[in-house]
Amino acid sequence: MTGKVIKSTGSWYSVLGNDGQAYECRIKGKFRIKGIKSTNPIAVGDIVDFELEPGEPTAVIIHLHDRENYIIRKSVNLSRQTQIIAANMDQAILVVTLAAPRTSLGFIDRFLVTAEAYHIPSILVFNKYDLYDDPEKYLLNEVKAIYENIGYPCYEISALNGYHIDQVNELLKDKTTLFSGHSGVGKSSLINAICPEKQLRTAAISEAHQKGMHTTTFAEMFALPNGGFVIDTPGIRELGVVEIEPEELSGYFPEMRQFSEECKFNNCTHIHEPGCAVLKAVDEDLIAPSRYDSYVSIFHNFDSRA
Ligand code: GDP
Ligand code: ZN
Repeated sequence: MTGKVIKSTGSWYSVLGNDGQAYECRIKGKFRIKGIKSTNPIAVGDIVDFELEPGEPTAVIIHLHDRENYIIRKSVNLSRQTQIIAANMDQAILVVTLAAPRTSLGFIDRFLVTAEAYHIPSILVFNKYDLYDDPEKYLLNEVKAIYENIGYPCYEISALNGYHIDQVNELLKDKTTLFSGHSGVGKSSLINAICPEKQLRTAAISEAHQKGMHTTTFAEMFALPNGGFVIDTPGIRELGVVEIEPEELSGYFPEMRQFSEECKFNNCTHIHEPGCAVLKAVDEDLIAPSRYDSYVSIFHNFDSRA
């Protein structure tokens, strides 16, 4: 049978079979993924084939289907192994807020760059709208203009009073969506607002297989009542830096791509070179100064990464 991995603990995988039933699966044999050495070969969102074990309620994963995309995290210990966190996402929602704790534009931009590098379309959701006074509303319009102009949809919502939750539900329908956001922005509140049964569901899954559940859960996925899946992960900070090369960086800023092709030097870093079309676009207000600042800041981080 074929199914989708909805929970991974590193040794046991909950797989939602095409028959709508959840199965607890183990892996037999080796699943090598070209190009990455990872500690966990299979992650939530993966599509797998599995076989029931004779006389057991459990099953064995025998085949991993090709992934559309995936996100990874470098483990912090000395082995520097890679963990695959989730696969096959249609979109990412970054939950941010202009109320406390206000999300910085730098944080948003680092997230967006990472998502671009992973080929995951992103949406920004500005939470805690109920707390915005005139200054925050003014700021919201400015910030939304920056991101909508470069193609990232923006929504203002309140997880607390339900404002525009219907719009979020519409976005999620029949899609697999990664949720991210730094702590305190209201990500858990939002997830509970869109899927009140969530806690029950996840509890039911872990009860089904208490043994072997003691290792880390990399990410969790749950099914939405009206179709679609949500993947909840720790903040993108913890996802670590993707292997982006400095010369690729401007390619992950959608508004810079068109200009960078017109620079005088084809290895232009867009920081100091004469004849740089990106710098000219910044001067002419065609690129938002905050976005360019984020570019420079991420670019300089490469030096400290080495
Ligand atoms: P998380 O760390 O991102 O998962 O954030 P939580 O969902 O735990 O929320 C952090 C705090 O913000 C809690 O005290 C929530 O009650 C509050 N909160 C979440 N959403 C909203 C909202 O839309 N409006 C207001 N006023 N408070 C909110
Ligand atoms: Zn340039």
